[in-house]
Amino acid sequence: MKKNCKIIEDLLPLYLDNIVSNETKTFVEDHLKECSNCTKYLEGLTFNLKKNKIDEVNSFKKFLHKINFKIIKNSLIITLLLILIIVPTLYFIGNVKFTQDYNENIDIAIRGENKKWNFQFYSPLEGYGYATYRIIMENGKPVTLVFVTWKYTLQEYFSTKKDYHVSNAPDLDYQSIDLNNEMRVYYTKENLQEIKGALSEDLDKYIKKSTLIFKNDKITTNMKCTQNNEEKLYTFTYYNYNGQLLSSTGDNAILKHLGYKYYSDNMEFKDISLISEDAHELINKIKNYYQENKGICSIENKA
Ligand SMILES: [Zn+2]
Repeated sequence: MKKNCKIIEDLLPLYLDNIVSNETKTFVEDHLKECSNCTKYLEGLTFNLKKNKIDEVNSFKKFLHKINFKIIKNSLIITLLLILIIVPTLYFIGNVKFTQDYNENIDIAIRGENKKWNFQFYSPLEGYGYATYRIIMENGKPVTLVFVTWKYTLQEYFSTKKDYHVSNAPDLDYQSIDLNNEMRVYYTKENLQEIKGALSEDLDKYIKKSTLIFKNDKITTNMKCTQNNEEKLYTFTYYNYNGQLLSSTGDNAILKHLGYKYYSDNMEFKDISLISEDAHELINKIKNYYQENKGICSIENKA
């Protein structure tokens, strides 16, 4: 029997897997009935087999657990990244100020009122007007250079659009801009803080990149009008740059007839209320009035 035991030991794994012939099966079972050693060996084999199966299941569970843990860990990392990077980025992008190009959409009303300049910005975009100014000396005279711009954030860009958004430049000290100085106003996309701190000789660099929108160099036009042998002299003082009227003298009755609400003899520059009117338009209206009423006007001189 001892001799057979070795053969049985070799056969037992196949026997357990049920891949033996019926003859071999009978042979193994007959042997096991009489041999306690081989029966013990079989029990050992069965136990190991079960244990291996349990171990396999356990390691698979551990594997799943590891994967689960990795997914949770990665989700946490992604969530943290969202909070730490994406949220501040969106906040930052939402608050970055973009500068509007100077175009027909933006309108800046510049008025000399109550002994100070007043700037009012009108834009179809929501946002705010900003301005800064510098005083330079030119031919021994002070000249005020005002730089204005319109800025908006993405949030403002996508917000409900109003017809026109109005703003003053809150950081500009209007009181300190002398009404009597020559003044030039530029629309710029350059950094206003840089302009504010730039050396005087470097200001040209910023001026070249900006658009001149207003210049208050005054000009006077005298016009003599004759009607029924009656002669009237008109004088018009206006800005050469954009034709905005500062003052006019002449026949107040005709000015009133032409629908001009504001007229005054010897109107002072500091008391301007005519500034929104176009001098050239007024001059032409007076000329046409005389022509229609058998009169004639001639420009005397252009200063
Ligand atoms: Zn045996």
